[in-house]
Amino acid sequence: MLQSLLTFAFGIVVGIAIVGIAWRATQRSTERKKDAPEQPLVKQYLQGLHYVINEESDKALDLFKRMAEVDADTVETHLAMGNLHRRRGEVDRAIRIHEHIMSRDSLSSEHREQAMFALGEDYFRAGLFDRAEATFRALIDKPGARVSALRFLLRIYEQQADWAQAVEVYSRLQALASPEHPTAIAHYYCELAEQARLDGQHEQAREWLHKMRAAQRNFPRGALVRAELAWDDGDMPLAARLLYRVVELHPQLLPVTLQRYARAAQRPGGPSVEELRAIVRTGPAARAELAYAGIVAGLEQESFVLDALPDLVRQDPNLSDVVPALAGDPALFDEPRRRALATALSRVVKRGPRYRCVECGLPTATHFWQCPGCRSWDTLAPVGRVELLAGVRSMGPR
Ligand SMILES: [Zn+2]
Repeated sequence: MLQSLLTFAFGIVVGIAIVGIAWRATQRSTERKKDAPEQPLVKQYLQGLHYVINEESDKALDLFKRMAEVDADTVETHLAMGNLHRRRGEVDRAIRIHEHIMSRDSLSSEHREQAMFALGEDYFRAGLFDRAEATFRALIDKPGARVSALRFLLRIYEQQADWAQAVEVYSRLQALASPEHPTAIAHYYCELAEQARLDGQHEQAREWLHKMRAAQRNFPRGALVRAELAWDDGDMPLAARLLYRVVELHPQLLPVTLQRYARAAQRPGGPSVEELRAIVRTGPAARAELAYAGIVAGLEQESFVLDALPDLVRQDPNLSDVVPALAGDPALFDEPRRRALATALSRVVKRGPRYRCVECGLPTATHFWQCPGCRSWDTLAPVGRVELLAGVRSMGPR
């Protein structure tokens, strides 16, 4: 649908361009002396229309370029043509057109800026991040393009995981306009802190977290990194307090918290997984949530999951229909049957998406702080129930 709309729009632009250029060229030729050789413009124009009608946009474009030089009157049309090519995925063509525009000496500064920005977008779309970065860096000096150029630079640094540069650009952007993702800078600091921790530079990691707190108070990811630093230092009570707060304030992060907890529990002298009971509220709904999060986190054989399985079956709309009908009341299951049920549920959960973006609906198997689809931060939420049939899975946010 989008493709055909773009093709239609492309056809209209090519058509308008050819009509406009044919008319202008006809005007010029009538101004010339009568004995000058007549250009077969009407023929070319009709041929161009024929190409447009038959959706032969490449031929239409070539003809159009032969008919028209880039000048002050046609530059807008050339820019529009280039942008349409980019949107159609024909980035090479878009780059050629925009570079061609840039090569003209007679361009006004406004048109040069527009062409340069379009070229930066082409490079970005083509994955030529070095060139895109240089182009947008040059555009930061232009007041009209500054904010948009900074937004593109931020996307480039995010894609390249260059978090230090992302911090710098975000700070500049923040001074000029409200940022698209208000928590992004706190994530950049967390990325830097996690990297420093992995490199064994704990002091540096704490410094990044300190900066993160200045940018964003009560940031759950920051608390998770601090908990891991506390585990590294053997301060188990502090780690437990931090995790307790994360789960209390952000219940959707329960599976992520459990995964980190499980990693710490495997280390010598690490916390016991059983201590998790204290972290989560009691009550059937919370117990079901804990069991589900435990399965998502790959902890399905831990006793806190096995004990809460009957609650999970009762609370989950799919399981409450299926499990009792096939196997009876799970509260009466002995341990081997609970283990078998937990293993089966884990397989079902692993077959489907475990998280879904609340912005764009993208389903994913693992948790990401930034959605790989729409690049939003903090939008992946755990799929809230066991989905038994892959084919009837809803694509929308839960
Ligand atoms: Zn998304």
